Amino acid sequence: MAFSPLHAVSHYRGRFAPSPSGPLHNGSLLAAMASYLDARAHQGQWLLRIEDIDSPRVQPYASRYIMQQLVTLGMYCDEEPVWQSHRLDLYQRVVDQLRERNLIYGCACTRQELPPEGAYPGTCSQGLPEGRQPRSWRLRVPLGTERFEDRWCGPQAQNVAGEVGDFIIRRADGIWAYQLVVVIDDGEQGITDIVRGEDLLESTARQRVLARLLGYPLPRVMHVPLMRDEMGRKLSKQNHAAAMDLTQPLQTLNLAWQGLGFEALPATSTTAFWAAAIPRWASRFQISPVSQVNAA
Ligand SMILES: [Zn+2]
Repeated sequence: MAFSPLHAVSHYRGRFAPSPSGPLHNGSLLAAMASYLDARAHQGQWLLRIEDIDSPRVQPYASRYIMQQLVTLGMYCDEEPVWQSHRLDLYQRVVDQLRERNLIYGCACTRQELPPEGAYPGTCSQGLPEGRQPRSWRLRVPLGTERFEDRWCGPQAQNVAGEVGDFIIRRADGIWAYQLVVVIDDGEQGITDIVRGEDLLESTARQRVLARLLGYPLPRVMHVPLMRDEMGRKLSKQNHAAAMDLTQPLQTLNLAWQGLGFEALPATSTTAFWAAAIPRWASRFQISPVSQVNAA
């Protein structure tokens, strides 16, 4: 499953990583489109990863449906899709290493015992209180401020230890936390560039802390705006965003394209749409035809 580090740094590798809790909607398409455009503008690879370990939310057939939607819109991935649910042994191996290095610890706190907001106070970091059993597992977050440049949002800084504290890598329900698996997957798949919705910007500092502890290269990041409804609410499966209209693929593509701040493209086929969109994206983000981004 692992890719050679040489491969990882020598060429752009991007990904789209939907959770199959339903079909893609116009909001999730916007993030998919941005990651696809950025990969193609860099003449890089675009991978699809199905984030299906949050089993209560996973809908049967949704992943197949999502793949079909992408193909209908003319978005093709360059490798076989990867399913997180097939990688549980890998996650366990990585967590075993973290445990051997004393970088994680069991936490017995219930939600009611934690402060309603702010950082985890470190209650269990020096061992569990008498008679308590671990519910979740937390990462010992090193002190310091995590700084990075977001290609859309600009310079970012977060003191993870101070603002978030030791965060959960295995949830009380036994499911690996999103923060853990996304870092392992990006690291093992040799992802050089993450392009995704801005709702995940606040997760990025935590993911960088974890990636560094695990010895993975730190990907460049770009967090694009979320598509909102007329009320300004984020379009999401939770607020019942309508599924995309695949009978009108060009209209659907243009809706996401305009959501990224571009003028609608008068294309007559999905192929023509992408042929017109990719150079516009490259020129807005000053991507040279033969990418030098990972040469350093
Ligand atoms: Zn605790």
